[in-house]
Amino acid sequence: MATVPIRTNENRDTLPVEAPFLPFSAPCFGIEEEQELLQALKSDWITTGPRCKTFESVFAEYTGSKYAIALNSCTAALHLALASQNIGVGNAVITSPLTFTATANVIVHQGAQPLFVDVDPDTYNLDPVQLHKFIDSQCVWNAKENILRVRATQNAVRAIIAVHYGGHPCAIDEINEMAARFGLSVIEDAAHALGGVYRGRNVGTLGDVACFSFYPTKNISTGEGGMLTTNDPDLAQRARVLSLHGITKDAWKRYSKEGSWQYDVTEAGFKYNMTDLAAALGLQQMHRLPSLLSRRAEIAQLYAAMLADLPLQHPTVMPDVTSAWHLYPVQILSSSVTREDVIQQLRKQNIGASVHFIPVHLMSFYQQQFGFKRGDFPVAEQVFDKIVSLPFFPRMSDDDVARVAGAMSSILERWEPALAS
Ligand SMILES: *Cc1c(COP(=O)(O)O)cnc(C)c1O
Repeated sequence: MATVPIRTNENRDTLPVEAPFLPFSAPCFGIEEEQELLQALKSDWITTGPRCKTFESVFAEYTGSKYAIALNSCTAALHLALASQNIGVGNAVITSPLTFTATANVIVHQGAQPLFVDVDPDTYNLDPVQLHKFIDSQCVWNAKENILRVRATQNAVRAIIAVHYGGHPCAIDEINEMAARFGLSVIEDAAHALGGVYRGRNVGTLGDVACFSFYPTKNISTGEGGMLTTNDPDLAQRARVLSLHGITKDAWKRYSKEGSWQYDVTEAGFKYNMTDLAAALGLQQMHRLPSLLSRRAEIAQLYAAMLADLPLQHPTVMPDVTSAWHLYPVQILSSSVTREDVIQQLRKQNIGASVHFIPVHLMSFYQQQFGFKRGDFPVAEQVFDKIVSLPFFPRMSDDDVARVAGAMSSILERWEPALAS
């Protein structure tokens, strides 16, 4: 964090005291992470090894999944979720347009067709009603083959990637029901949602396979990293082999005392394994997770209370879920202040903000390659036009939250004619 500039006697009265920069997000590491990382370094086992194994078992236990595979990103996990199920050329995958581009990119990596279904205006998650409409109007069910085909391309729809936006679990029962009817796999993009609960079930066990991110802004971080969870032994086995070149033994087994030099390559896999240095951080972050989550929920409550009177749409939490509170996004409902004004004014007050997300179908690649255009997903576009993610991370103090709230009031009240008069 920036420090307050040193002032001399002459300019004490003229120089404004600048508040330190408050970032949009920051990771939360302590002495425990430092010590674990140092031990990993000193152990000489720095890539995939004992710490990855322990991180995986702690993670599997926390989420309640049978298998957890530590990887070097959530993007890798999403890619393996598709590859392990042979989803590729001739196939199509449905997801939300209001997501990070990684969710859609992996579909393209596999040579499959990305399909988007618009989001719910309250949770910003894939809307099951829209999903139903989409299948009804854009797809054809072939009962003899048991295949759902995209009418326009004849590609076989194979999976739905359900993004738990901001940590709020998707309406998964409705999504699973539709998936079961049409033989689709459900992949959770749980990049935001470690710690989320849906009707008593943990995120990570809500679909066929789930993908988590440990990028620096996410609920826990390993620098870069990801995890794949599943209850399906075949999928787990395939994903593990594909995560390390398609080699049937991992380096841990090859280079440890019990190992042997022999290995076979059963298919051309990827290089997606996590390092033990990253797992050292992940292990300690898992110990810290309950306190990180409760502080996130606390800050959300503070924001909701402090910003209650402003022209904003706050995040909604459905009654049957626990949000993992990854983001605090507000929609600017003022008629005179735009989202861009808010971000600029916050910046002037040394406060960072972000936008989640520029809808993927508005990206030039997706427009040129697949013909998407503005107007295709009006709810995602309306949300995107108005949304700002406020600073939101566990190390924020109550004073930091109050500072953001004060800034938001001054920005919105100063500019709002109705309130200013
Ligand atoms: C961050 C993010 C990803 C990608 O995670 P990485 O670990 O950076 O690969 C995927 N999906 C969503 C929704 C994300 O926010």
